[in-house]
Amino acid sequence: MASQKRDYYEVLSVSRSASSDDIKKAYRKLALKYHPDRNPGNKEAEEKFKEISEAYEVLSDAQKKQAYDQFGHAGTQQGGAGFGGFEGFRTGGFGGGVEDLFGDIFEDFFGGGRRTRKGRREVGIRGEDLRYNLKVSFEEAAFGKKIKLDIPKDVMCDTCHGSGAKPGTKPSTCSRCQGTGEVRFQQGFFSIARTCDRCGGEGSEIGSPCTHCHGQGKVRMKKTMEVTIPPGVDTGQSLRLSGEGNAGQKGGRGGDLYIVIEVGNHPIFSRENNDVICDVPISFTQAALGCEIEVPTLYGKVKMTVPSGTQWGKVFRLREKGFPDIHGYGKGDQLVRIVVEVPTKLSSEQKELLRKYADVSGDNVEPLRKGFLNKMKDFFGE
Ligand SMILES: [Zn+2]
Ligand SMILES: [Zn+2]
Repeated sequence: MASQKRDYYEVLSVSRSASSDDIKKAYRKLALKYHPDRNPGNKEAEEKFKEISEAYEVLSDAQKKQAYDQFGHAGTQQGGAGFGGFEGFRTGGFGGGVEDLFGDIFEDFFGGGRRTRKGRREVGIRGEDLRYNLKVSFEEAAFGKKIKLDIPKDVMCDTCHGSGAKPGTKPSTCSRCQGTGEVRFQQGFFSIARTCDRCGGEGSEIGSPCTHCHGQGKVRMKKTMEVTIPPGVDTGQSLRLSGEGNAGQKGGRGGDLYIVIEVGNHPIFSRENNDVICDVPISFTQAALGCEIEVPTLYGKVKMTVPSGTQWGKVFRLREKGFPDIHGYGKGDQLVRIVVEVPTKLSSEQKELLRKYADVSGDNVEPLRKGFLNKMKDFFGE
């Protein structure tokens, strides 16, 4: 097979937004043109036919199409040589759309080796990717955390070391494909070769299965893992632990484990990217006269001067009191948003003082009010 695969949409000459009907029509047209029966002995046509059939196979299946749209050819090669590998997306329950932010950090760490997305023909059946939803607190997201997780997953069977064959026995020739690793089947009028699903293209099957894993080569168990949550994580981001998903079969490598982060709410802080936002209520006299207040931050309390005449909603910036950047590029800020509170209960003495204040102020109006009154006059044409 050609090592450099063409884009499936390009192969069928359809746009990426083509409907399933358009895709079907395009395929039918090309399939009739390049069908081996119409082009006997024409190697080029045969290759073309294979190529368009493969493209149609993927683009006509909603699930495969989605995987292809998202991961390209890698999304269709999970199972090695053929199309057998979509189980990962189904049984793994991994919906995709995860940001792969930490792949680089964790890859070397967990010894999974760099994942080749293109070109490499893989052996065996790759294990499914797993998704684990992890809730962390606001502070844990800010400062990071080492955490122990019990992940239920398929691990390689110790008894047969993953071969699935009873120790001392060997796999025999596959009865479905007679060792060729391929089966032919009928699609419409066409006969198409596909990877044998009984042996996964290996050409062999297990005569005496391992009794511990029933020939699966893997067993289900909980594995305790220590995971480091890096400081600065945010909701929706994920950590990819290469090879830590379900174990593969027949020499296939393990799937990946995605730890998807959800950051909890905080009673006094909220978050916008790497900035922390905190609403701080002050009284209307404090706002008018100015004051010094204590403001909570992730890093402890900070004294802040509120100048006289501070309006509701005014935002003060405390530099570098926000979340650390996940990639290590400094820190966000804390934004302190002033909430001016109008008193709801007044004693008679307070009322008296405020009336006096109103008398003294007379018709003096503040700039905002003045501007508003002027606009109102304009509006009513007064
Ligand atoms: Zn076993
Ligand atoms: Zn077979």
